[in-house]
Amino acid sequence: MLYQTTQEHEELRAKVREFAEAEVKPIAFMLDQNNQFPTEVVQKMGKLGIMGLPYEKKYGGAGADALSYAIAVEELARVDGGVGVILSAHTSLGTYPIYAFGNEEQKKKYLPDLCSGKKVGAFGLTEPNAGSDAGGTETTAEDMGDHYLLNGEKIFITNGGQADTYVVFAVTTPGIGTRGISALIVEKGWEYVEGLLRLGVNRVSMGVQSFDDRMLRWMNRRHDAESARKAYSILENAGVENISIDLIFGISSLTDQDWSDTLAKALAISPRGVLPKHLSCYQLSVEPGSALASLVEKGRYEEASDEMCMNQYAMLCEAMASAGYHHYEISNFALPGYEALHNSAYWRHVPYLGLGPGAHSLVCSPVAAGLHGGMSAVNDDVLGKVMMRRWNNPDLKAYLDAAGAGDFSLAGGCEILTGDQIMTEKIMLALRTSEGIDSEYLERHCPAKALERALMVGNLIKTPAGKICIPEDHYFVSDGIVSDIL
Ligand SMILES: Cc1cc2nc3c(=O)[nH]c(=O)nc-3n(C[C@H](O)[C@H](O)[C@H](O)COP(=O)(O)OP(=O)(O)OC[C@H]3O[C@@H](n4cnc5c(N)ncnc54)[C@H](O)[C@@H]3O)c2cc1C
Repeated sequence: MLYQTTQEHEELRAKVREFAEAEVKPIAFMLDQNNQFPTEVVQKMGKLGIMGLPYEKKYGGAGADALSYAIAVEELARVDGGVGVILSAHTSLGTYPIYAFGNEEQKKKYLPDLCSGKKVGAFGLTEPNAGSDAGGTETTAEDMGDHYLLNGEKIFITNGGQADTYVVFAVTTPGIGTRGISALIVEKGWEYVEGLLRLGVNRVSMGVQSFDDRMLRWMNRRHDAESARKAYSILENAGVENISIDLIFGISSLTDQDWSDTLAKALAISPRGVLPKHLSCYQLSVEPGSALASLVEKGRYEEASDEMCMNQYAMLCEAMASAGYHHYEISNFALPGYEALHNSAYWRHVPYLGLGPGAHSLVCSPVAAGLHGGMSAVNDDVLGKVMMRRWNNPDLKAYLDAAGAGDFSLAGGCEILTGDQIMTEKIMLALRTSEGIDSEYLERHCPAKALERALMVGNLIKTPAGKICIPEDHYFVSDGIVSDIL
């Protein structure tokens, strides 16, 4: 059969070719080299009107034919095969099953956003043991009454990390072969966040680290700035009001301008124009034994200078103060009333419970003494009790197996704190906060002369509440101040 293109087809070809030459070709090599998803290009493809070419206009599509869609894929693939596949997987794999097999409610709910490119689609069929033969699908979807519990692993999913809507294949009726496999529409984020909210979670902290994709790649992060924004918007839309963002500064290749941009983008992250309630901003440190330490040893990473780190910390303090944040701990900033309760327990050195792999807990009770045999030297704060730090197994599978078996005890390890450790930690942690520490406690445990000197030179000051703290403009050198008085 001879396919003859019409004038409209050729006009579409010219439009997509012009777009591909201008927007895709210049970055095609970089995308391959950095294994990067072209988020901005895909957004522009939405604006160009090619993300829903073969679908009916009533669902937000362009109402064009299959040949138009093929031309668009062909023109993109002409300059970059990867971008062509993004469009074809989105259109044929992520969107078509909903268009062809979804009910009217599903079509109205999902197709307009997919066709406009506001959302990206993906298709989750392949598994480690199910490739050409999809009958080998091992992922299961168990009907739990008001929801399905989806459990399994998928591989090679085009748009997998960036998509918003997934058509996922799973066994719903075991034992009857391929007829027992169903396709489920999965929206990224929603179910997970709603599950968290149902469990009573009322605050979420996001490890964004940077809004600069170059920096994120250097840090070996799986996300890019755009997916961080999307995740934030999912949380906000699901009703999580109290969201915290983690950022990192003091990386030698992070310029002051990059840092300033990241701070501005963090404050503007909410599509609703609401400031994030909390920010935790940490200076990159080289920990012995870490991958970064080995780069330093091999001369492949040079640490940022103290001067640069100090300057970026000052920029941070200034930006947060002008946005109205309370600098309540060296690395933490909160809108009034949104100081982190769980972290505050850590800084006040009062017992806290850590859930999840690798999480630490501080336990102070006679029960702990009974469990782990014996009393340690304790100071007067915890007289008659044992203070113990314990940590969960950092291995996710081992942790889940233990939790699944109802074993919430010490999957990782523990240490019983000595009186000296308790005292040092209490002083060190409290002096990280703007609240400070009871002057009477400091006087009891620190050499009088060292304390007097620190107060005299302004390394320590008295708070209106009669406590002692480090003034904000000395936070950057707090480690030195604490070691001088201990
Ligand atoms: C660029 C790309 C994008 C992809 N995107 C997606 C996606 O979006 N979603 C998704 O679910 N998957 C995706 N996949 C996965 C893809 O669909 C699978 O790779 C494919 O189904 C083959 O499975 P497999 O790699 O496990 O190979 P296998 O099934 O292990 O096949 C290996 C080889 O054996 C041959 N073979 C298999 N069965 C038989 C048989 N019965 N008789 C004779 N020869 C046989 C095959 O032809 C092949 O040469 C993508 C793959 C690529 C390369």
